[in-house]
Amino acid sequence: MQIVDTMCANCLKRYIEDTHTVRAFIQANPGANVMDLVKQTGFSLKKVNQLINR
Ligand SMILES: [Zn+2]
Repeated sequence: MQIVDTMCANCLKRYIEDTHTVRAFIQANPGANVMDLVKQTGFSLKKVNQLINR
């Protein structure tokens, strides 16, 4: 997880929370695609891709 190595504690905490948000949404909506995630979480497409591809 190279992205995590460059983060300070605050950003890392936020990143982990965002990851949990995305994972919870996918668990609750197994058929959801990336665009559904963008709409429902309010995260950018780039951010969603980073979170689900780690
Ligand atoms: Zn930071």
